[in-house]
Amino acid sequence: MAAVHLLNADLHSHSRFSDGTLEPEALAARFAAAGVELWALTDHDEIGGLARARAAAHAAGLDMLSGCEISVSFAGETVHIVGLGFDADDPALVEGLAATRGGRLARAREMAAGLERVGLKGALEGALKYVGNPELVSRTHFARWLVEIGQCPDTSSVFRRYLKEGLPGYVEHRWAKLGDAVGWITGAGGLAVIAHPARYRFSPSAEYALLSEFVEHGGRGIEVVTSAHGAADVERVAGLAQEFGLLASRGSDFHSPGESRFEPGEMPDLPGRLTPVWEALEHRVWRAPR
Ligand code: AMP
Ligand code: MN
Ligand code: MN
Ligand code: MN
Repeated sequence: MAAVHLLNADLHSHSRFSDGTLEPEALAARFAAAGVELWALTDHDEIGGLARARAAAHAAGLDMLSGCEISVSFAGETVHIVGLGFDADDPALVEGLAATRGGRLARAREMAAGLERVGLKGALEGALKYVGNPELVSRTHFARWLVEIGQCPDTSSVFRRYLKEGLPGYVEHRWAKLGDAVGWITGAGGLAVIAHPARYRFSPSAEYALLSEFVEHGGRGIEVVTSAHGAADVERVAGLAQEFGLLASRGSDFHSPGESRFEPGEMPDLPGRLTPVWEALEHRVWRAPR
């Protein structure tokens, strides 16, 4: 990996170990074929796919960082923290992720009960058909099933109609604490990054609290270029990165072909005035044999 600013790094993606549709091997092949030069697999609350991803990435000549995306509850909202470049066998991290995964199945049962109250029977069984990892049943799996049965044309309309706060399939859930998630990542030698900050519906003061507490806990990065961010979001978040002294990350948040704005590696570059996270992670890269 060359230490160049314009590296085609894609540091946010999902496999069937969480709510992506592809196996780690297919994902590695896709990212390599797309011209990505540094890849991270960041499954939700799960690192079980990393060993397979690493083997496949190296077979394809693709450099990789370990990764995960931890679900956190902060000020009444769910916030995602991406971890990059950690030791994947660190006991506190492994335990913390297992605890964060726990409770998803009970939540899914409650979600199904909520959907049944509006006449949608069999939602749990439906969602489970799409699950690659039963510990990781997520709203995305419900969304794919509701599209399958013709209830909505695509997954984002399912979220708008059923799965966001206040809607029939939404269930309040207590995820990890911000300080714990950042601590598990940094304690394992990794770098913590706030995922897709423009997606949260925080007031300016709550957003300020998130960023300052994140930095106090040792968080060092923020996602600037990602599928959930339009051009105006990129500009605004670039300003936040500078204000809080954070390194900038870039990741498609790829889940499945055609499901989001960006396919692997096909994103704008980071604004030139920012320092990319990968400059602080060179010593953590799993380098492909050349
Ligand atoms: P969960 O962890 O079960 O709450 O599910 C969160 C996942 O749902 C995210 O990681 C996204 O993959 C997906 N998601 C969240 N909001 C939307 C949306 N508006 N449209 C499509 N997918 C979404
Ligand atoms: Mn997801
Ligand atoms: Mn996310
Ligand atoms: Mn994600």
